[in-house]
Amino acid sequence: MHKKGKIYFVEVLLGRDSLKILQKGFNYSQDGPGNRLVYHLQGCNFSCKWCSNADSIPLENSKAKDYSVDEIFDEIMRSRMMFFDGGGVTFTGGEVCVQADELLELLKMLKENGIHTAIETNGSYSALKEISEHVDYLIVDLKHYDETEHKKWVGTSNKSTKENIEYFFSTGRQIHIRIPVINGVNNDPRGFADYFSRFDTSNVVFEFLAYHEYGKDKWQGKYEIENGFVNSETINEFKKIFENHGMKTVVT
Ligand code: SF4
Repeated sequence: MHKKGKIYFVEVLLGRDSLKILQKGFNYSQDGPGNRLVYHLQGCNFSCKWCSNADSIPLENSKAKDYSVDEIFDEIMRSRMMFFDGGGVTFTGGEVCVQADELLELLKMLKENGIHTAIETNGSYSALKEISEHVDYLIVDLKHYDETEHKKWVGTSNKSTKENIEYFFSTGRQIHIRIPVINGVNNDPRGFADYFSRFDTSNVVFEFLAYHEYGKDKWQGKYEIENGFVNSETINEFKKIFENHGMKTVVT
């Protein structure tokens, strides 16, 4: 459904004044600094074959709930005592920009009230530029630097993601690039490093996330990745090659 779902998403989301949330909870320093209240938004325009939140991909999911922007805002404000160590709120997915208008409205309210905000995004929506202006900590995933491989494993082109990433590089804003490293898919760091080294990445940190299978059961037998695990040597190789290119790496 989501492969040809852009029009579907737009039609469904017009006129909404609420956000569809699949799950929420606190984590520490995994998706932005400090202790954070993390919301997983329903719906994604990608279909990564290793997605650990496959139930977050379709827009409609009986487990997801609609919350008005005001309801979420109130919940966040009530939770602010928990945002220690520079924490705050993070929106992830699914893909957060599927619900761009409502997210933007909420982010503006949070910024006006001094809440530290973060998003994790697949980077593919043009709305991301405006959204990012109201975000303190921006995490953008790049699944593959090569367009053909990206289409093969994710189902869509990587062009718009790269355009957005290059836009952020050109503005010099702080950005956190997250690369999921999967054996047989994208476990050669040189192509990534060659691509990123063309830009000024002085305000960028790179994270390499080793493949896991925590969400495999959600695929209900349709999971296609085989032998996707990478060892610590592969992750260290990514770090070494990026750092040899003068790029900063981070572990969360
Ligand atoms: S972008 Fe994220 S949520 Fe969307 S399919 Fe890929 S891994 Fe899943």
